[in-house]
Amino acid sequence: DPSSRAEDTAPTRLEAVRGDITRQSVDVIVNAANSSLLGGGGVDGAIHRAGGPEILAECRELRAGALREGLPTGDAVATTAGRLPARWVVHTVGPVYAVRTDRRPLLESAYRRSIEVSAGLGARSIAFPAVSAGVYGWPPDDSARLAVTAVRAALAAGPSSVELVRFVLFSDEMHELFAAELSRP
Ligand code: ADP
Repeated sequence: DPSSRAEDTAPTRLEAVRGDITRQSVDVIVNAANSSLLGGGGVDGAIHRAGGPEILAECRELRAGALREGLPTGDAVATTAGRLPARWVVHTVGPVYAVRTDRRPLLESAYRRSIEVSAGLGARSIAFPAVSAGVYGWPPDDSARLAVTAVRAALAAGPSSVELVRFVLFSDEMHELFAAELSRP
């Protein structure tokens, strides 16, 4: 019927907030993980600390099974969110920033695959950190531009369960960059 069709095609809301991603009450929080999936610093460390050992246990199971070689850069995989308010953690691996090679397609892929995996779970709300913008060295302004462009492109690929994408930035500077990018038409 026409009303449900209108719902299917309602545009996904995009927003940027300053905060701690582990505190977000959304269906999915995305983790800027590394290929090992066995934990790291930054947002990864914060997610495992706040979510408890269940998340790492499921990561270890993935490594023992389908992801024996680790999670490839640019890909994404879901686990439980343990005791976090979110329902799932979607782990993705962004590229390490490099001056001499263009790794933007891999970072775009990390955002796109995170949305695809989340949509596959039927998630309606997703929170993203600034993937690769910490230890992996991505320049802040390009990080914001690329994240917003990649998420918009992934959502434009077709209707999905996703109603809200929230970028959760840890600093005022990053928050301002993402908010500015989102305010562009
Ligand atoms: P990467 O290795 O992909 O660069 P990092 O975790 O080092 O990942 O950093 C990614 C971004 O996440 C950085 O901008 C960092 O400041 C931010 N960050 C760190 N902890 C949190 C958190 N708890 N919530 C949201 N963002 C965070």
